[in-house]
Amino acid sequence: MSEGEKPGNAYAAALEQLRSAVERLNLDSGIAQLLAVPKRELTVNFPVRMDDGSLRVFTGYRVQHNVLRGPAKGGIRYHPDVTLEEVRALAMWMTWKCAVVNIPFGGGKGGVVCNPKEMSAGELERLTRRYTTEITPIIGPEQDIPAPDVYTNPQTMAWLMDTYSMHKGHTVRAVVTGKPLSIGGSEGRVEATGRGVVVTGLEATKRLGMDITRCSVAVQGFGNVGAVAAELIEEAGARVVAVSDSRGGIFNPKGLPIGAVKAHKAKTGSVVGFPGSEALSNEELLTLKCDILIPCALEGQISEKNAAQIQARLIVEGANGPTTPAADRILFDRGITVVPDILANAGGVTVSYFEWVQGIQEFFWSEDEVNERLKAILTRAYGQVHDMAERHRTDLRSGAMMLAVSRVAEALQIRGVYP
Ligand code: NAD
Repeated sequence: MSEGEKPGNAYAAALEQLRSAVERLNLDSGIAQLLAVPKRELTVNFPVRMDDGSLRVFTGYRVQHNVLRGPAKGGIRYHPDVTLEEVRALAMWMTWKCAVVNIPFGGGKGGVVCNPKEMSAGELERLTRRYTTEITPIIGPEQDIPAPDVYTNPQTMAWLMDTYSMHKGHTVRAVVTGKPLSIGGSEGRVEATGRGVVVTGLEATKRLGMDITRCSVAVQGFGNVGAVAAELIEEAGARVVAVSDSRGGIFNPKGLPIGAVKAHKAKTGSVVGFPGSEALSNEELLTLKCDILIPCALEGQISEKNAAQIQARLIVEGANGPTTPAADRILFDRGITVVPDILANAGGVTVSYFEWVQGIQEFFWSEDEVNERLKAILTRAYGQVHDMAERHRTDLRSGAMMLAVSRVAEALQIRGVYP
């Protein structure tokens, strides 16, 4: 941990999870040291012309944690709270995520410190194009492939691909995933992360003997991941009693009609004020009486402050790093099952892998093919994580971490160390 870093942040949590897996696996200390640090970090400061004619300087990052199993893969986040430590943590989690589902990628992540809610489309386009130019030396279809994350979307990826392609002199589709369909995106990519959350959540309910049609669900965060997860779990027969976004939450014990809530958010910008619902805060949503809790917003939401009050029996992590290690221990002791982020939200990177493959082959699949292959990969990974956790009498996070870390370590052992 670098000097001045606050304990309890995402990077500290990521390191603690790694340390625990390394100990359980009895891994060589040299390998453990290598896995604890990012391979490469790039910080860029760059100017953007704002709509009022002024010049503003933004800071962005791209971190490649590990590329032993394939090119770095990971999203780009636009958020005022982005820090290098956060991007490091997210890059490390991407390494484990790709290894858990056994796709041929390493881990990377990027971010720009900005508030996209206060920027126009033109300003965001200029920011994206300049940031892309600044990180161009280290990205590429065979090196590092960005994708959307918080407050970036298919349009952002289209600008990124176009900028990269302009520099190369020809279209390079496979440099990003999460692109719009019309320029080489994959069917099913937009829904993939939320779909994977529901596929893995349903695997967990089966093993816990929970009947999904009798389950109530609370979803924190109603963006790309949360809104799709809410919609698909409702489709599977569950009652979604609460959802929230950054402005607050809504609750209806009889169940919220998710299609209508989505339409309300599209019209008003928030789920708040949905007719026939009661207001509740994001904190209240987390400790609400329900069977399944699905955090789909930001890191560190379930901590030692509220873990003892959580009433759900099952937590499925749509977000990256929503549960701190201290909270994990409390939840484990209380018998609450947590499907960890690196498994639960791996649907996004899995379909990103499909998009990359389709882009390189210039041969595109149907939505049914994508969804079937996604389900097969996640179901297999869930079974492997479950078996690992059972064998070591531990929770699913430790099982997933052990599986992932051992796969990356094996790649190092087989490849050997250069020179
Ligand atoms: P998004 O920008 O589409 O949505 C984020 C949602 O979280 C929005 O509804 C926003 O209002 C809400 N939010 C923000 N701050 C909040 C707060 N303090 N409390 C409650 N809600 C808050 O982003 P997304 O793509 O849905 O990503 C959400 C999470 O899922 C992130 O942790 C991201 O890293 C993770 N994730 C995303 C993908 C993907 O494919 N998009 C894949 C894997 C993991």
